[in-house]
Amino acid sequence: MKPAPFEYHRVHSRDEAIARLSELGEDAKLLAGGQSLVPMMNFRIVRPSALIDITRVSGLDHVARDGGALSIGALVRHATLEHLGPEASSGYEILPRAARFVGHFPIRARGTFGGSLAHADPAGEWCMLALALDAQIVCEGPAGTREVEAADFFQGFMTTALAPEEIVTEVRFPRPWPQAAIQEFARRHGDFAIVAVIAALELVDGRCREARIVIGGVDEVPVRVPEAEEALRGAEPEPSAFEEAAAAAAREIDPVGDLHGSVRYRRELTEVLVRRALHEAVGNGG
Ligand SMILES: Cc1cc2nc3c(=O)[nH]c(=O)nc-3n(C[C@H](O)[C@H](O)[C@H](O)COP(=O)(O)OP(=O)(O)OC[C@H]3O[C@@H](n4cnc5c(N)ncnc54)[C@H](O)[C@@H]3O)c2cc1C
Repeated sequence: MKPAPFEYHRVHSRDEAIARLSELGEDAKLLAGGQSLVPMMNFRIVRPSALIDITRVSGLDHVARDGGALSIGALVRHATLEHLGPEASSGYEILPRAARFVGHFPIRARGTFGGSLAHADPAGEWCMLALALDAQIVCEGPAGTREVEAADFFQGFMTTALAPEEIVTEVRFPRPWPQAAIQEFARRHGDFAIVAVIAALELVDGRCREARIVIGGVDEVPVRVPEAEEALRGAEPEPSAFEEAAAAAAREIDPVGDLHGSVRYRRELTEVLVRRALHEAVGNGG
């Protein structure tokens, strides 16, 4: 199928993008990589009256370090993060690892970091990562700039805290998590995962001071599993602690069953993937 008719506007600055969004109203959509929006338009799942093409807006394609903090511009492509150099990715090695799970090569070559967050698929790797690593999402609109914590940004199935006339400009990660890993299960490589897990550990003196476990694909938004994280706090990073955390994660989630997997299947996958992710995280970045 082809999309329903729409107007096309190319903008060259954030201010212009925000002005167009305000002027054209809720039926207008920003166009970034087009890797989610265009298929949805072709299937007529969405019928925007106008597209505002932001791909030539300058100043949104940076990857910048400020000590431990990392900022990623909204227009940074998945492929850029897949091939991030060692200096930029130091402590954030999870970025290139996670990028390899995002669709196929053509999707990674065009799709953007900010587009993924705005699209907010519950199994989207960047959404999970933002939640796991306490990212702040910078949103700009007619009233100015605000930073939204990832935990507050994802509000429901493909629904975010973004106002209709706002644009995501940047995502900020406050501190590195070298010991982090991603594990997924999808029917074919490149598909959205049936269940995906990101685990990150902060190890101090041979014990786990902090742990983050995020599960994607089991709810309307990516979810943290506090009991599983708590099971690891203060523990030595050993198989028995990982077993306990994985079992807690499987208990804590409230998955939905669908054609791709039943509730029970998703719980079992969660347990297996959390365990694997924790084992892998310990071996990473040590
Ligand atoms: C076959 C296939 C497989 C895929 N597999 C995966 C996968 O495994 N994991 C995964 O994470 N993704 C996957 N994707 C989606 C892909 O990662 C998209 O690139 C991403 O979800 C959206 O980014 P985009 O730049 O293409 O955004 P677009 O498609 O251009 O836009 C998506 C939505 O975000 C809005 N938007 C875009 N940029 C901004 C911004 N800066 N501020 C505010 N709103 C904005 C748009 O208005 C639109 O509503 C897949 C896509 C396809 C077609």
